[in-house]
Amino acid sequence: MSSDNVATEVLVLAEHTDGTLSKTTAELITAARILGEPAVVLLVSGSSGEASGGSSDATVDALCAQLGELGVAHVVLARSPEFGLYLVTPVVQALAQLVRERKPAAVLLTASADGKEVAGRLAVLTGSGLLTDVTELHGDGTATQEIFAGSAIVASRIITGTPIYAIRRNAITSQLAVPVQPEVHTVEVLLSASARASRILDSVVEPKGNRPELTEASVVVAGGRGVGRAEDFQLLEQLADQLGGAVGASRAATDGGLYPHQFQVGQTGKSVSPQLYIACGISGAIQHRAGMQTAKNIVVINSDSTSPIFDIADFGIVGDLHEVLPQTITALRERAGS
Ligand SMILES: Cc1cc2nc3c(=O)[nH]c(=O)nc-3n(C[C@H](O)[C@H](O)[C@H](O)COP(=O)(O)OP(=O)(O)OC[C@H]3O[C@@H](n4cnc5c(N)ncnc54)[C@H](O)[C@@H]3O)c2cc1C
Repeated sequence: MSSDNVATEVLVLAEHTDGTLSKTTAELITAARILGEPAVVLLVSGSSGEASGGSSDATVDALCAQLGELGVAHVVLARSPEFGLYLVTPVVQALAQLVRERKPAAVLLTASADGKEVAGRLAVLTGSGLLTDVTELHGDGTATQEIFAGSAIVASRIITGTPIYAIRRNAITSQLAVPVQPEVHTVEVLLSASARASRILDSVVEPKGNRPELTEASVVVAGGRGVGRAEDFQLLEQLADQLGGAVGASRAATDGGLYPHQFQVGQTGKSVSPQLYIACGISGAIQHRAGMQTAKNIVVINSDSTSPIFDIADFGIVGDLHEVLPQTITALRERAGS
């Protein structure tokens, strides 16, 4: 198949849950347009005409419609009954097959833990260069990355194979495009025995509250050791709910049992890049900053005016968070009339 691709086609690996594309996919599509024409890869469990693994034809239609709204003219539907049964290897094989068949100008995926693993394996399989944690992409293929926990910014260009870029969530602002009716190209993916090396036996879905996903939220209210007690994180939750945001925490807070580990922000936690990051009782260690310093606006609440976090603050409040947060929540509620 696929003599229909163009030389500047850029493959984008879509992320989707329950028939809804992630916000990150729209960001990747915008990034792909910098290099060429995006062709979005949808991985679908099941063979043609067969609905399995939750990927019904209705789901596929819904996803294609969302991609059309984002102005995507080409969708590559990669089907295998075995997606979802194994870890990342089937995804890697699907992308490697598409790289061989479609000879794209580049491949873009999200710099999540899974995305980076897929990108690394794909680079080895296709003999290509890879850049991860990309925060900016330019038309000549140069990518900007933050390295050494964000303490240095480098610009690099891939000179080998099909360039693979793992793009940081929230680093690129998705742009609106003229809606189109996408052309759908279906590919049956053939898995090798090595792709079946480790099979998923069971999986448990973590209970999710009403707050947005931490890595996708446009507002993050984060707390550190300065919050003091686990129950005082309720203040941060109230502020986050008032602003439609998510709650994050420093490693000292998660290690100290103040908040669950899955919400840790930083070098060994999650990377966030929201429009607004409110750091409460966080000192601003380099490992914490590595996960949040690309936030567009940083507000700091800290009782110690010499804390290094103030160096990256757009707006700082020197004060006890136990006094500042209740006043802020009350003021926001009054403003919202609730
Ligand atoms: C390999 C490695 C990886 C790491 N990865 C991460 C990571 O991913 N994420 C991460 O966060 N850390 C990480 N760390 C830990 C990091 O070095 C810091 O120890 C940690 O970020 C400190 O957390 P904190 O700012 O909450 O605590 P502290 O440094 O103890 O700071 C607490 C702050 O709260 C303020 N405060 C105290 N009371 C109040 C109050 N009542 N009101 C307002 N402010 C108050 C204090 O002035 C202080 O600035 C890592 C460390 C290593 C070595």
